[in-house]
Amino acid sequence: MRLIHTTLAVLTLGLTATITFAAEVVVYSARNEQLIKPLFDAYTKETGVEVKFVTDKEGPLMARLKAEGPNTPADLFMTVDAGNLWQAAEEGLLQPVDSKPLKANIPAHLRDPGSEWFGLSIRARTMVYNPNKVKPGELTTYEDLANPKWKGRLCLRTSKKVYNQSLVAMMIHEHGEQKTEERVRGWVANLATDPLPDDTKAMEAVAAGLCDVTLVNTYYFGRLMEKKPNLPLAIFWPNQNLKNINAGVHVNVSGAGVTKHAKHKQEAVRLLEWLSSEKAQNLYADVNLEYPVNAKIKADPTVAAWGPFKQNLINVAEAGKLQTRAVMLMDRAGYK
Ligand code: FE
Repeated sequence: MRLIHTTLAVLTLGLTATITFAAEVVVYSARNEQLIKPLFDAYTKETGVEVKFVTDKEGPLMARLKAEGPNTPADLFMTVDAGNLWQAAEEGLLQPVDSKPLKANIPAHLRDPGSEWFGLSIRARTMVYNPNKVKPGELTTYEDLANPKWKGRLCLRTSKKVYNQSLVAMMIHEHGEQKTEERVRGWVANLATDPLPDDTKAMEAVAAGLCDVTLVNTYYFGRLMEKKPNLPLAIFWPNQNLKNINAGVHVNVSGAGVTKHAKHKQEAVRLLEWLSSEKAQNLYADVNLEYPVNAKIKADPTVAAWGPFKQNLINVAEAGKLQTRAVMLMDRAGYK
């Protein structure tokens, strides 16, 4: 009798342990710990599902996923820029997910047409200018920054950064390669100084009067202005008055996809769905001064204060598809 009881107790314990073990999901994230930990804590509190995560740059994480193959512990891969998400899918590291909530919560242009990755926040790559040096009405479109009237007035971040590769890739999709190359050559001819190492340095150069306008991701503007609110910098939304496909500000996403060899696929899909839901979208976007992808959700007041804008509706997957051509084009055009 005692033996039976013991056996039952062991069985029960074993079962409990298995259930506890199943209720977890493992994330490889190129998004920083301080941005994702509060979210995952909230998710665990709400669902009891433990979220384990590893953070690193996207390159090493993708290499690790590849090396681990079917043995990877990772269920979800999270990173910034559609160019990187597309790359992960291209390398066979992700798997398609058929989910009604994800389709309902995320606009079609911000997720993979093959459903292998999903945008979770929007960052706009837009113009930041010095209002003391740029007259109202002077700024119009990305393309116009190639006009000789901007000679010596433009600063750009290096073309090595995926953000600019994605932007140029989207321009290739819109205008074709030849016109895009002419424009990028025009930008290079208008540079006030060599390309700068990051978006913040580019804005600081504008504020210091070295140049008048630059192109940056919106959250860098938000961060810099929180630290130094008196800098002579303002945001401008280009390409707003066009009626064609070129209309709208170029946007990109941070996002995630379920890994090809996920051990907890269902949990990974549930976490993805939760991240796109009304509950989580503010937590996800606001912490980095980004825009929610879920159109039902209002942006953080700091972000909303930059005013509304029309987005370019080209699918962000194009940023990945045309990335190699964009890199070669920028090289030919002398954009370092
Ligand atoms: Fe960034």
